Amino acid sequence: MDDTHWTQVYSAAEALEAYSLKGMLEASGLDVLLKGESLYSCMGELPASVLEVTLWVPEHQILKAQQLLAGYEDQADQPWFCSGCGEQNESNFEICWQCQKEKAQLL
Ligand SMILES: [Zn+2]
Repeated sequence: MDDTHWTQVYSAAEALEAYSLKGMLEASGLDVLLKGESLYSCMGELPASVLEVTLWVPEHQILKAQQLLAGYEDQADQPWFCSGCGEQNESNFEICWQCQKEKAQLL
């Protein structure tokens, strides 16, 4: 009997994201479980629509996992500030919700 205590570390919006995060964590030496109501890994392919997939890691690896995920979220979900009106916008907005100016491409 496996007595590892698994702890949920992340809730992904879709299976593809969950799999890429799982790969990232495993590349750093962590053990990762994916759980999701609609996730049928035995089918050998990703289901078309998955409401939510959660990532679980052993309790003693939670801190490292959170650090890695925080780095991932910094890249993916950085809010941006409109160059026109200065309003803060969520990363998934392509135009400013306030003044409709296009998101500036910062390199
Ligand atoms: Zn604006």
